[in-house]
Amino acid sequence: MPLPSVNFTYQCQARCSHSQARAGIFQTPHGPVETPRFMPVGTLATVKGITPAQLADTQAQMVLANTYHLHLQPGEKIIAAAGGVHKFMGWPGPMLTDSGGFQVFSLSQLRTIDERGVTFRSPRDGRLIDMTPENSIRIQNALGADVIMAFDECPPGQGDRPMVERATARTYRWLERCIEAHQRPQDQALFAIVQGGTFLDLRSQAAAELIALDLPGYAIGGVSVGEAPALIDKVVQHTAPLLPAHKPRYLMGVGTYREMARAIFAGIDLFDCVIPTRFGRHGTALVQGQRWNLKNATFREDYRPLDETCPCYTCQTFSRAYLNHLIRSREMLGYILLSLHNITELIRFTQSIRQAILNDTFTKDFAYWLTPPE
Ligand SMILES: [Zn+2]
Repeated sequence: MPLPSVNFTYQCQARCSHSQARAGIFQTPHGPVETPRFMPVGTLATVKGITPAQLADTQAQMVLANTYHLHLQPGEKIIAAAGGVHKFMGWPGPMLTDSGGFQVFSLSQLRTIDERGVTFRSPRDGRLIDMTPENSIRIQNALGADVIMAFDECPPGQGDRPMVERATARTYRWLERCIEAHQRPQDQALFAIVQGGTFLDLRSQAAAELIALDLPGYAIGGVSVGEAPALIDKVVQHTAPLLPAHKPRYLMGVGTYREMARAIFAGIDLFDCVIPTRFGRHGTALVQGQRWNLKNATFREDYRPLDETCPCYTCQTFSRAYLNHLIRSREMLGYILLSLHNITELIRFTQSIRQAILNDTFTKDFAYWLTPPE
């Protein structure tokens, strides 16, 4: 069992009177994370196109990196020798690495799954890779992020009940092995992942079993893997309130306005999603809840900022006309500026919810985003 750590605490600052929403501070060895908060994704130890200094300007606090991708390239040895992932990528703030489970289970390449773990061929060079709970934790210990994730079995969104039951039971057994393998509980918090597909009783059972293991944080996994939005919502509304109130709660892979607002309503604190940078690379801007294609001719002679209310460098410096020109010319700066704005936008959205929770006006101020999905 991991020793109890004083380096990771969650302090609740305010609770909403009309929902489970809460505002709090999650302390990590690399600084505090004010929650609720969106976390940008830096898959290969870089948030695509954004320097760490620019990332800090977006008010990002905790940043993700991806265990599976970093294991393939450059390999955890290189990163450990550089002094860990924070130093390697020049990000001094809190970081989180996922376990690689999600990527491994999404692989279309030939793979074998058994009680030991997953074996697959590297899509990079074809070599055989063995991913087990022990391996995932060993890699994450070498990378050195503040929060590391348990290696879990993520069943497909439409998985039938026996399949989901088996995966959920295995996730528990693998968590026990992750705990056993974890070498750095003092400076790395291992989060458990609640699986259970869309079966609410399995979610309840999994949550109860994992909570008994007393980990420093809990995540809801296996959502946004192909289910309808209404089903995702049902799972989140059911599962989030079951998680310990004195620990951080993380909803994995979710980052749209409505999904985040609804999840915060249910008591979630942390989110991650590749949407802001992926959209940025496709010339799409997130502007006050809408998606704008900056290639569109309507922006050609539009000299206003992208969003007049946005404090980001892009909006403070450039016009829609200039962004339109960059995207049409396929200039890399265009994609960078949109990514920068999109990250700022989603962080700002969660920050404004945080402020509303502190003022106890959350359900009133965000009523539009709190209507359940159809
Ligand atoms: Zn902006």
